[in-house]
Amino acid sequence: MRRELPPVVHEALATLHDELLPVTDGELADYIPPLAKARPDRFGLAVCTPEGGFAAAGDHDEPLTIQSISKVFTMALVLGDRGLEGLLKHVGAEPSGESFNAVSLEEGTGRPDNPMINAGAIVTCSLVKADDSTERFERILGMMSGCAGRELEVDEKVFELEFATSDRNRALGHFMRSAGSLTAEVEPTLEVYLRQCAVLVTASDLAVMAATLAAGGVNPFTDERVMSTEAARHVMTLMATCGMYDASGEWMLRVGSPAKSGVAGGVMTASPAQFGLGLFSPPLDEKGNSVRGVEACHRLAERFSWHAFALPADRQLPAALEDDDAEGA
Ligand code: GLN
Repeated sequence: MRRELPPVVHEALATLHDELLPVTDGELADYIPPLAKARPDRFGLAVCTPEGGFAAAGDHDEPLTIQSISKVFTMALVLGDRGLEGLLKHVGAEPSGESFNAVSLEEGTGRPDNPMINAGAIVTCSLVKADDSTERFERILGMMSGCAGRELEVDEKVFELEFATSDRNRALGHFMRSAGSLTAEVEPTLEVYLRQCAVLVTASDLAVMAATLAAGGVNPFTDERVMSTEAARHVMTLMATCGMYDASGEWMLRVGSPAKSGVAGGVMTASPAQFGLGLFSPPLDEKGNSVRGVEACHRLAERFSWHAFALPADRQLPAALEDDDAEGA
């Protein structure tokens, strides 16, 4: 059941929204018109707890395409289908230290570095068990919808534009096929991958999806188990090491919770058993992460000390989240 989190959490989000709205740093992704025309002043934040506590500020109900954040959910599905060993046979688990669309395959095996970069995500898509691409995509959409607790939809226009212009991902696919790391056909696999990137979510959805991971795979509102506890742990582990691309190391230093970003300006971070946070602001830094999204997490993490490696006594967050004298919405 959804209930309001205590005022201190609402206030923290609202204050942060107002503080960071004037920030004009960062560039919009410009490889397709819908992203290039995004409004740079859009900024939404939402937090959700595994118990269904919720708070949000700004444009938290504004739709955005999920883009790379989708990689997390496809990985979870493949873990369910094939187990960790089945995934690791085809995709590595090491940070690439390079940008999200880099061409970097492991010497000897030809495996892409990890499922959070494009090369690894394309192979991961091909590993979802299904009779055809339609079913494969439906299963991925089902996983994302289960985590969001509502039926998500595809922005078909974004999908078509991505598919028509995705030369680099197409090249990655062919390169991996020649290396033997992608055994499926390139075009149908690319279609599934780009369709999953074009799924529409809001910052509120991202918070619920992250809270589902934080709850070990159970959606806080529907109580549906959408993935195993183990799968949730595995995806959060790779989010921690590889989720923010080549900024993942600094992210873990400063924020300290597993996270994933997307090129439309979405960021999602999960703190196991504590909360999920979803953010949306389109301007990106040079690593491809939302400028306001990253800064908001830096500030929140500093204030509430939720770092995964912080001593429990130093953490401010559980107290703030559990102090729920406010009544349910
Ligand atoms: N659709 C984008 C791509 O594959 C997603 C990348 C991203 O969000 N970083 O290039």
